[in-house]
Amino acid sequence: MKKVCNFCHSKESAENRIIAGKDASICESCVKSAYELLFIKEDKKRKNNNIDIKAVFTPKELKNILDTYVIGQERAKKVFSVGVYNHFKRIFKNETKKDDDVEIAKSNILLIGPTGSGKTLLAQTMAKFLDVPLAITDATSLTEAGYVGEDVENILTRLYNASNQDIEKTQRGIVFIDEIDKIARLGENRSITRDVSGEGVQQALLKIIEGSKVNISAKGGRKHPNQDFIEIDTTNILFVCGGAFDGLADIIKQRVGKKSLGFGQENRKANLDDNKLLSLVEPDDLIHYGLIPELIGRLHLIATLNELSREDMVKILTEPKNSIIKQYIKLFEIDGVELKFEPDALEEIAELAIKRKTGARGLRTILEEIMIDIMFDLPELKDKVVVITKETIKTKKPTILETKKIA
Ligand code: ADP
Repeated sequence: MKKVCNFCHSKESAENRIIAGKDASICESCVKSAYELLFIKEDKKRKNNNIDIKAVFTPKELKNILDTYVIGQERAKKVFSVGVYNHFKRIFKNETKKDDDVEIAKSNILLIGPTGSGKTLLAQTMAKFLDVPLAITDATSLTEAGYVGEDVENILTRLYNASNQDIEKTQRGIVFIDEIDKIARLGENRSITRDVSGEGVQQALLKIIEGSKVNISAKGGRKHPNQDFIEIDTTNILFVCGGAFDGLADIIKQRVGKKSLGFGQENRKANLDDNKLLSLVEPDDLIHYGLIPELIGRLHLIATLNELSREDMVKILTEPKNSIIKQYIKLFEIDGVELKFEPDALEEIAELAIKRKTGARGLRTILEEIMIDIMFDLPELKDKVVVITKETIKTKKPTILETKKIA
């Protein structure tokens, strides 16, 4: 009988020989893939930290990684991959720069998209993969402090702590600043009820985003005259700003509408949905929204993320490498229970998440609500099959099937 690879199930052939072990076999092609996965990629990763340009991941490789975890958002994944690639290229180029070389400008990233659409996830996935520290912060918290400048610097303290207080690592990290739209200055067209103008915070952010040397206190919090400071150079830190930018679609709609009327075409205003409109964003729209031009000038790459559809939500539940459903199946497996979800149960969960308007963020909460009672009884369900149906979503009572233990 021909030997079969236990990894990919292919049969032995002259081109694909098989090494047989005591209890399992592996074919040549799986050995190669495993080698690449374990050693070549690891090597690249290490070199990435020392910025060897030949070893920097290509935009395609970076997007492949994002594809494993982030569903949909094709354009944003592309922009993000190019942004990170350029970022490393630029660091390398500037480090080996001769005097007459062109200095490549810093290209930070702005992500525009509704809540729970994957903005933070993009930054998290990239930081994890590149093995660089990540600090996530919320721009709204910056407006609350009395003296704003100090607070903005605290972002760097967070990054410093995420780097295990390693200055070198800190200076190559990623900072994700969420809700950047909430510090827009008050525009004539919008009615935000906020008592302080965000312009001061934007100015303070600009200073660190454009690349400068900033003193941070090692412990975070307020600076005291006698405290020890650490100097952080932000030149090679990648800043990613994110926001939902409610109302921005209307600003774009007005501009696009005017233009199309100007050209004597039929008014396209009504035909464009918000996803489409946001994808047409231009820096001027953001100025109109209330971001200062200098800050926009430092966010070279702008990507928009779509509102997730029901189909996307179902994919998010099931497809990513560490999807929530896969995690639950694993949890049940540990107790010797098989867990199954019927397709219309998944659709129902997706539908509920859409109604809650929290994007994919709501999926985990909804599942937890459904699963808690079942998990309470889990140890008593050994060797059974638990099926989650559309009905279960309402009643929280799954169908439980008896099953014979396979020897
Ligand atoms: P936000 O756009 O508000 O930053 P997040 O990235 O924090 O949203 O998303 C919250 C959670 O929802 C993520 O941790 C992830 O589990 C899930 N999620 C959101 N968008 C996606 C997506 N496009 N693909 C896969 N999971 C997603």
